[in-house]
Amino acid sequence: MKSDLDYVECSVCGSKNFKLIIKQKNIGYNLNLVICKNCSLGLLNPRWTKEKYANYYKEEYDKQYRPNIQSEKEKDICPNPILERFKNNNIDILRFKNILDIGGGSGDNLMAFKRNNSEIKCFAIEPSIKAQKNLTQKGVQIISDDVDTHWEANFAEKFDVVIMRHVLEHFLRPLEVLKKVQQVLSENGILYIAVPNNLLEKRSAGWLRIAHTYYFNKYTLSKILNKSSLSIQALYLEDKYNRFEIFAFAKKGLVNLDIQVNKKVIKSQEKAFKSALKIKSYFTVFKNTFNSIFR
Ligand SMILES: [Zn+2]
Repeated sequence: MKSDLDYVECSVCGSKNFKLIIKQKNIGYNLNLVICKNCSLGLLNPRWTKEKYANYYKEEYDKQYRPNIQSEKEKDICPNPILERFKNNNIDILRFKNILDIGGGSGDNLMAFKRNNSEIKCFAIEPSIKAQKNLTQKGVQIISDDVDTHWEANFAEKFDVVIMRHVLEHFLRPLEVLKKVQQVLSENGILYIAVPNNLLEKRSAGWLRIAHTYYFNKYTLSKILNKSSLSIQALYLEDKYNRFEIFAFAKKGLVNLDIQVNKKVIKSQEKAFKSALKIKSYFTVFKNTFNSIFR
């Protein structure tokens, strides 16, 4: 029988040298959280194959995490945290013409930009069939249902903003996706990216889950952005909207940061994972996810 699992190397540094953090037992598979001993990236290794994840995101993911996505009416969420963060960084929203949300979901973020600038054209990449319908109804153009296709080929330097809110940690090939984003950003285009902050010992429940293939911290996020020729303009570890995430603004351009990850960082990351795992509910969520998928 063909295996549903793949073994991978580190997406940030290419190393194959990992330390096991937690081994999944009693689920019929070895599907483990490991840490890269070279750069501190956390990842599931082995993990599901591309095919298995693609099926999962079409319908199963929404059932588990976004059950109300179809019925969500356009909400007048004020303020929208992403829009507010743009404003707080003195970024002129009115100059944007085309905006792409990778993992557009409910479309709330795109609509927040649209409300502030009615001229803006909205685009999305979204695997969920329900979410695609929802986005289309809101006038958003779906350019792909899969980040791993060659969607970038038709959109060179097209987008003034690319939003990647809590999606990088779901991807199978995050470095390759960021390289595509670099190609589709306009000359002064801005990438907004947010991921969970894995150096925190306290986390929001469900941080460890089958959907999260990667577990970034400020070092590994910075390294993977730099490796994609995306230059970080600002990086924040928390603000009043969210205490558990890292968010950053980046532009394409020469990268001048040489981020070194020393042994101390790797130890801190390992300690943070282990502390977070001590809270039982986190592990239960992970296990329940496996059970519902495999049975
Ligand atoms: Zn690594």
